[in-house]
Amino acid sequence: MKEFLVISGKGGTGKTSITAAFAALAQDMVLADCDVDAANLHMLLEPVTYHTEEFVGSQKAIIDPSKCTNCRLCQRHCRFDAIESTKTACIIDPLGCEGCGVCSYVCPQGAIALRDHVSGHWFLSDTRYGPLVHARLGIAEENSGKLVAKVREHAQRIAEEQHREYILVDGPPGTGCPVISSISGVDLALIVTEPTVAGLHDLERVKRLADHFDVPVMVCINKFDLDESYTAKIETYCQEQDIEVAGRIPFDKNVVYALIRGLPAVDYRAEPFSSPNGAADAIRNLWQAVLERLQSEPV
Ligand code: SF4
Ligand code: SF4
Repeated sequence: MKEFLVISGKGGTGKTSITAAFAALAQDMVLADCDVDAANLHMLLEPVTYHTEEFVGSQKAIIDPSKCTNCRLCQRHCRFDAIESTKTACIIDPLGCEGCGVCSYVCPQGAIALRDHVSGHWFLSDTRYGPLVHARLGIAEENSGKLVAKVREHAQRIAEEQHREYILVDGPPGTGCPVISSISGVDLALIVTEPTVAGLHDLERVKRLADHFDVPVMVCINKFDLDESYTAKIETYCQEQDIEVAGRIPFDKNVVYALIRGLPAVDYRAEPFSSPNGAADAIRNLWQAVLERLQSEPV
């Protein structure tokens, strides 16, 4: 079994559109949406969810007012200013509480307990392109890295049970905790970038991260024809870093029309009055290049 990650240093590069198109082309992969802060792969895949589970990502402290003597010791020790004092007892602001447990440790009355906190949900679904594992983190919730690990764990389990050779992972944007959790241990990563200053800068950052985890990478330049001088700069950088540029996808309004209809770009038939779907052809070629590389990577 091999895991293939599609990633980008920033949002808005077209990463999920490309992942959805790969899902349509591959057909028999297990799909994992690890962009848990803003999962949207499912919007293009029409999943039928058959299992939903709570994700307990942290704990929160709770004060039992009947035991609290309002001594304020907990308030003095909370480094996160999450405890307020009222006339009769202290109370904890759940949004401020980081679940460190110090208040519970210092409370002389044993009035504070730590309770599991549900930070989001994860889902198992079937799609017309194969099984999908995805998740949704609650607003302002943390521990997205743990939730990503959970999504990958279940995708791996399904791949083993169903004897599927590949797992296709839609990674989160950026280089933070959920990205680290997504990239560690995958067999190959495709970095989707765009011909802009930010695109090149973020490509460099993601490449450094991939190097740290010893993950081989390929690059795809999306909407490459919007600024061909920057496309050339990205290609020069890739040449210097010995990175294969697996594909260049042109800007194509058909991708937008496909998204409006909730379809992967490769499943969208261009209207007779519209230009040919050049992006879809480029994505098909890109997929072939990725597949060949994936097959050649050692397990
Ligand atoms: S330390 Fe315990 S008893 Fe004192 S204010 Fe906090 S909860 Fe109440
Ligand atoms: S668990 Fe930590 S962060 Fe939360 S209220 Fe207690 S001391 Fe503050």
